Amino acid sequence: MTTPPDVHVVGGGLAGSEAAFQLAERGHRVVLHEMRGVRGTPAHQTDRLAELVCSNTFKSTELTNAHGLLKAEMRLLGSLVLDAADAARVAAGSALAVDRDVFSGHVHERVVNHSRITVTREEVCAVPASPAIVATGPLTSDALAESVRARLGVQSLSFYDAIAPIVSVESINQSVAFRAARWDKETMTPEEQAQAQVGAGDGEALGAYLNCPLDKAQYDALMDALAEGDQFTAHEFDKAPYFEGCMPVEEMSRRGRESLRFGPMKPIGLRDPRTGRRPWAVVQLRREDRAGRMWNIVGCQTRLRIPEQQRVFRLIPGLENAEFLRFGSIHRNTYLNAPAALTPHLSLRDDPQVLFAGQLTGVEGYTESTATGLLAAINLSRLLAGKDPVVPPSVTMLGALYRHLREADPAHFQPMNANFGLLEELPEPPRDKQKKRSLYAERSMAAMAAWIAEHGLV
Ligand SMILES: Cc1cc2nc3c(=O)[nH]c(=O)nc-3n(C[C@H](O)[C@H](O)[C@H](O)COP(=O)(O)OP(=O)(O)OC[C@H]3O[C@@H](n4cnc5c(N)ncnc54)[C@H](O)[C@@H]3O)c2cc1C
Repeated sequence: MTTPPDVHVVGGGLAGSEAAFQLAERGHRVVLHEMRGVRGTPAHQTDRLAELVCSNTFKSTELTNAHGLLKAEMRLLGSLVLDAADAARVAAGSALAVDRDVFSGHVHERVVNHSRITVTREEVCAVPASPAIVATGPLTSDALAESVRARLGVQSLSFYDAIAPIVSVESINQSVAFRAARWDKETMTPEEQAQAQVGAGDGEALGAYLNCPLDKAQYDALMDALAEGDQFTAHEFDKAPYFEGCMPVEEMSRRGRESLRFGPMKPIGLRDPRTGRRPWAVVQLRREDRAGRMWNIVGCQTRLRIPEQQRVFRLIPGLENAEFLRFGSIHRNTYLNAPAALTPHLSLRDDPQVLFAGQLTGVEGYTESTATGLLAAINLSRLLAGKDPVVPPSVTMLGALYRHLREADPAHFQPMNANFGLLEELPEPPRDKQKKRSLYAERSMAAMAAWIAEHGLV
């Protein structure tokens, strides 16, 4: 009988620790390579596995919250990281907040003491040979990042994210925001223009943008609010160089009152169907998903704090009641352009047994990163047993995240957190938001349980 090959997991953060443990529990011998101990990162403070680099919360546990739902699905799959979070839980209402030392201590002990896991302290400088999972996170060391870039192509890896907020389609006032691509209007008949104001799912034909028109007073008020907005102060290493496409919107507004009106908020080629005139300025929303449920506020990548983002961006006409599915941010963040570079189960295209997991795949956040580590381990274990990889249905939060990584437009790909806009719409969605979320959650949990049973995953 041949001995099964050792599986290599690179990176002992949240995703890598979860992946190593899950593989070992499935009978594989695992070598976990973690560089802390011999080489640090700019954000980690210890050499413990699964260190939380910043906040101590895994966010909500409620099923009607997208993060709560994702965690509930992960519990069905037996997540080690969530076990450890439960063991380290501190009082924080419905949020799963943890004592960070107890938390990482718990994961660390379970991983290093596992009889099938060997932890080696070293920097891995090249994409490993299969079978392997690479989970080196947002602060992947330079040498490995260069190796990944060389293997996948220059366009496949970014070192910073410059994220604009995303809002839900239901929360956009479409009696104000009009649907048109720049220059579309000049060629539209009056009937088409009228049509362009309604209908959320048909944007391709009528222009892929929703346009929020501003008059001079509204534009000035927005510029003032941007200039005064309270900003997040970054760590030194996290200060992104301001290159094109990455300049925070508040910085652009500070460089000159007209900068945005001559830049991303230019009104040229757009005519407000309500007035028949070109507005003073236009904030464009670009669809983020095919179904047109999530809309990105173009050019509004920002370092404003979250409450400030809500206050400032709700000044934009049409966004007064905006529901934010993702907030803006600008960070040091090494991540792959998954839809352009990876397979649906997040492996190399030329080697299905070299998988990626964690924040490096273009998901954002502790829970999301851990979840991809869990699924990567399940899939690598399946592949080693000669089975096909599997991804949960896209009515589950985990499946919807994977669908986003597979189907998002590579030209605009940015990291994504769990949110309800990712899920497939209900056939008959109720108007009440809480009721709708309860129905989403019910459907997700049932689908996840059925999927687990179908593939015999636990
Ligand atoms: C400064 C900062 C603050 C953040 N704050 C939050 C927050 O508050 N909430 C939140 O949800 N998310 C936050 N994030 C995102 C957070 O990092 C991720 O959600 C999560 O840690 C990602 O898990 P991961 O396993 O992918 O990466 P990590 O947890 O970072 O683990 C990656 C591991 O790989 C190791 N490694 C890197 N390169 C190599 C190499 N070449 N060889 C061997 N080992 C290597 C690293 O040392 C690290 O231990 C923050 C990120 C940063 C950078």
